Amino acid sequence: MLYKRSSELFVEANKVIPGGVNSPVRAFKGVGGTPIFVKEAKGAYLYDEDGNRLIDYINSWGPMILGHAYEPVVNAVVEKAKKGTSFGMPTALETEIAQLAVSMVPNIDKIRFVNSGTEACMSAIRLARGYTKRDKIIKFSGCYHGHSDSFLIAAGSGLSTFGMPNSPGVTEGTAKDTLLASYNDIENVKALFEANKNQIAAIIVEPVAGNMGCIPPAKGFLEALRSVCSENGTLLIFDEVMTGFRLAKGGVQELYGIQADIVCFGKVIGGGLPVGAFAAREEIMNHLAPLGPIYQAGTLSGNPLAMAAGYEMLKALNTDPGIFSRLEEKTAYLESGIQKVLTDANVVFTINRVGSMISVHFDANPVYDFTTAKSGDNETFKKFFHGLLKRGIYIAPSAYETWFITDALTYEDLDFTIAAIQETAKEL
Ligand code: PMP
Repeated sequence: MLYKRSSELFVEANKVIPGGVNSPVRAFKGVGGTPIFVKEAKGAYLYDEDGNRLIDYINSWGPMILGHAYEPVVNAVVEKAKKGTSFGMPTALETEIAQLAVSMVPNIDKIRFVNSGTEACMSAIRLARGYTKRDKIIKFSGCYHGHSDSFLIAAGSGLSTFGMPNSPGVTEGTAKDTLLASYNDIENVKALFEANKNQIAAIIVEPVAGNMGCIPPAKGFLEALRSVCSENGTLLIFDEVMTGFRLAKGGVQELYGIQADIVCFGKVIGGGLPVGAFAAREEIMNHLAPLGPIYQAGTLSGNPLAMAAGYEMLKALNTDPGIFSRLEEKTAYLESGIQKVLTDANVVFTINRVGSMISVHFDANPVYDFTTAKSGDNETFKKFFHGLLKRGIYIAPSAYETWFITDALTYEDLDFTIAAIQETAKEL
């Protein structure tokens, strides 16, 4: 495949955009080479500026769960746009999407819409701090909750790719209130509670982690977090930006039957437009302005185009109960295909998967936290990535990212992908 036009565009972009990209992982730093400039996309396929067609396993990092340019979403956005693109005033549609979201997700009464996952998580933390009147939070190494200051401590995703776990610009004052624990290590969490009695406002967790590859919660881990929080008057925040409306209609709370106190959303909930949201029981949400004193706001929050896209997306997921089992079946098929061809080729690997989130780690040992995620062989990953790319398969350009499967993929696409992995395995 040729990437002449993408290379030219990257040179131009670098002159006016830092690193040529508006979000770091896109820059291919983790795998080397030139980022692909996409021109358009439909269903499971991306079409780049050089005219290549790629099967997409990133899907805008999750939102395009029903495929690119999904018609009901596109039509709703087009129709809305003709009637005005932003008002900064309430619209009926905001209530409709809120009612729908609240009906789909367990244990939430009210939801507030924002413009990104970062905003959702940052607002959730403020709400938890204001509600509990405590300052500290616990986050897990390798979990990513957006780029707000409190979270840029041993964060996954792009920060892992670039080997800079903490960002300059985050003050010590802020960093000291973020306590770090190891994912899947409940003793670690308990020790932090012991050392910080009555000071911990919230635990924020990706209930299925997706920013150090896909890492499932160990049996009993989420239950234990729930108990520790309840015993200590601490709020449990599920960051379901990746998992919400993907692993089940009601996200991980539904999948594993565990109640969080605050839930954060992003990605799928916006149908591909910039949307995030956070939600909780009424008693907690009523502390937000204008009802309560905890301030949170946004000029473009509840934007009509974004709400129209999100509403169509949620409606589609709500009305077709087969979607989640189809996603499970397709991803399981892909997983067993990859297992087979990599085993036959004597490649050392581990696959992690929950539903339609899957990741391949080039490590023989189980991957269950940030330390084990980092021990994978990055050089092999780079070859794997480029081997697939040249065969028309687009996976995330970093060993720390999850693949997001879309229902638009056909079994033919999956077979094509498995065959491409079989060929690539010969080069590893
Ligand atoms: N939380 C999680 C779990 C995420 O994966 C992400 C983004 N990948 C975020 C929060 C931040 O979302 P955004 O990039 O929309 O700000």
